[in-house]
Amino acid sequence: MSSTAQIGVTGLAVMGSNLARNFARNGFTVAVHNRTAAKTRALVEEFGHEGDFVAAESAKEFVDALERPRRLIVMVKAGEPTDAVIREFAPLLEPGDVVIDGGNAHFEDTRRRERELRERGIHFVGVGISGGEEGALLGPSIMPGGSPESYDALGPMLERIAAKAADGTPCTSHVGPDGAGHFVKMVHNGIEYADMQLIAEAYHLLRKVAGYSPARIAETFRTWNRGRLDSYLIEITAEVLAHVDTATGKPFVDVVADAAEQKGTGRWTVQTAMDLGVPVSGIAEAVFARAVSGHAGLRAASRGLAGPSAQPLAGEAADAFAAKVEQALYASKIVSYTQGFHQIRAGSEEYGWGIDLGAVASLWRGGCIIRAAFLDRIRAAYDARPDLPGLLADAGFAQEIGAAQDDWRAVVAAAVAGGIPVPAFAASLSYYDALRAERLPAALTQGQRDFFGAHTYRRTDREGSFHTLWSGDR
Ligand code: NAP
Repeated sequence: MSSTAQIGVTGLAVMGSNLARNFARNGFTVAVHNRTAAKTRALVEEFGHEGDFVAAESAKEFVDALERPRRLIVMVKAGEPTDAVIREFAPLLEPGDVVIDGGNAHFEDTRRRERELRERGIHFVGVGISGGEEGALLGPSIMPGGSPESYDALGPMLERIAAKAADGTPCTSHVGPDGAGHFVKMVHNGIEYADMQLIAEAYHLLRKVAGYSPARIAETFRTWNRGRLDSYLIEITAEVLAHVDTATGKPFVDVVADAAEQKGTGRWTVQTAMDLGVPVSGIAEAVFARAVSGHAGLRAASRGLAGPSAQPLAGEAADAFAAKVEQALYASKIVSYTQGFHQIRAGSEEYGWGIDLGAVASLWRGGCIIRAAFLDRIRAAYDARPDLPGLLADAGFAQEIGAAQDDWRAVVAAAVAGGIPVPAFAASLSYYDALRAERLPAALTQGQRDFFGAHTYRRTDREGSFHTLWSGDR
């Protein structure tokens, strides 16, 4: 077999197949391989007309089909299968070759794999890919980590197949060394969880407090999507809410079991944030909200607990409340992104990745699940001031969240009064209030810690570390 393929994809389930087709449609010759060879044949039979594919039955055939330095993308199930594939391919590769893991790997695994392959002179590139199956085919947002040399070999190809932002910029750029790409993808997913939960809470409030029907809420979301909340998730939310179940004629949202599932990247975001000491309370509440929804037994046992009884609003009062929900949603969304970008900055400092936060905002502008008009503003904020301590320190965002805060409070208060859970709205508002507070009760916490554990404290009026001889000191 002659070595003609510029790129190879092994793992031809939905993501791998679509990614391979995307490369082929963009004029690249693509070697394709799958553990179960029937899938390779099926792909070429069905989509061979779309471009130039080289079907490889064995790992050796696959590697031999690739131009040097070889570029091969692994799109298999994340975890042990990725290690198994690397073990199979590594002995067939040569120094300078580039192995790309496009799966949803944990960034610590990526750091380990990069280290192990570097010892053999092989570049390992952990790539976060967002956009689901449609994105993989039509243009995803791509977050590559790895060495700068690997990006030289790979970047121009990724730029061809990536989504393009409205200004034509490809939604990909070199994020940083080793695990940086997968770390940024992980936080992307954490923000996605928060965005989805905030939208769900907005829906719940519009339904319960404003008394809107799902169809009316779909209309409301469509209107919001033409404003500052313009985003993929708001757009698809309107579609889901407008959808009617054909079997029953009921709103689709009313026939779906209210137990949200998760694959784990939101949980990783929160676990990592805990390790880094970064407050990602909005994201954490979103992960917990899914967990609460899934505890059917606990929920059933708690259904009889006392709560307020309230009638939904009507007419102009309902519409005025809906306008406030838009403010609360936007303000909470600013907080989610503030927290997510804080986590990326902290990860970058911890691991020495040198991540450009403006560039991250830029590559999320198209292709990915959290794509939103709003990301242009975040990019501009970090481009203007790369050392921005946080998004709320940007004058534009500070002004907007300040203008929204009265309505935000009114919405959270209405939710509390009406007995409607809004964990992400409320946590985001508390985060905002914590950041802007002159004094926090953490002073009292330090006093308690010094009392029971002689943990010492610092003072506001003098330098140094202090301990009080408490009367109850043991
Ligand atoms: P998947 O269901 O996660 O994985 C199936 C693929 O993995 C098949 O090609 C399968 O080969 C292969 N595989 C499993 N175990 C293997 C092993 N031990 N050795 C060799 N191959 C093995 O597929 P997917 O949904 O297309 O996702 C691929 C990757 O992309 C995953 O890491 C996923 O997390 C990530 N991802 C998915 C999405 C999405 O929207 N689905 C979005 C972004 C990222 P056989 O055909 O032989 O079983």
